[in-house]
Amino acid sequence: MPRGQLFIISGPSGVGKGTIAQRLLNDMDITFSVSMTTRAPRPGEVDGKDYFFVSDEEFDKMIAEDGFLEYAGNFGNRYGTPKAPILEKLNTGHDVLLDIDIQGAINVKKSYPKGIFIFILPPSMAELRKRITGRGTETPESLRKRLGKAMEEISYIDKYDYCIVNGELEEAIARAKAILVAEHSRVTDDIYKLIDTYKEEM
Ligand code: 5GP
Repeated sequence: MPRGQLFIISGPSGVGKGTIAQRLLNDMDITFSVSMTTRAPRPGEVDGKDYFFVSDEEFDKMIAEDGFLEYAGNFGNRYGTPKAPILEKLNTGHDVLLDIDIQGAINVKKSYPKGIFIFILPPSMAELRKRITGRGTETPESLRKRLGKAMEEISYIDKYDYCIVNGELEEAIARAKAILVAEHSRVTDDIYKLIDTYKEEM
């Protein structure tokens, strides 16, 4: 059975990558990797679906057990990608989607360079500010921090394979889906095996 592919979607906080990721999960044959975080749930977030919401002690235990593919600190909270469920899905031929920050993506690239890295950009800085403010969860200080971090993060775009400017949402989603399809149209060992069967049938 061919191995599944690991897709990593990241971009500055507030850029809308969560919405794009959600549509990929609904419409494509791909599973979401649920991260662990020490931050408190936002209204409407569900434990085990959006995140595994854990204590600092539980997070430390996962680190000690080498249970993360990567983990990072963000705005005072910690986030980690549990390793075992991802490897199990990839090994059984399922695609997996990670929605993680840039720092995390760079670390995943070191341990899993075969991943496909997709960067989501805002159409403008003004639009990013508007989207972050619209969430209603930011203080002026945290907004300033998020925007500063966004500019720094964008400088890592050269580490990525693909980039999508999220101006018009449906267009961005269509591009993300096209990337998944394109990555499954590569000339791989499985294709050579298929061609071998043609030869046997000649
Ligand atoms: P939020 O608190 O808004 O859900 O997420 C804040 C940031 O943490 C986002 O950029 C999100 O993509 C990132 N994040 C979520 N899960 C993980 C993870 O497992 N690892 C890393 N490095 N970042 C994550």
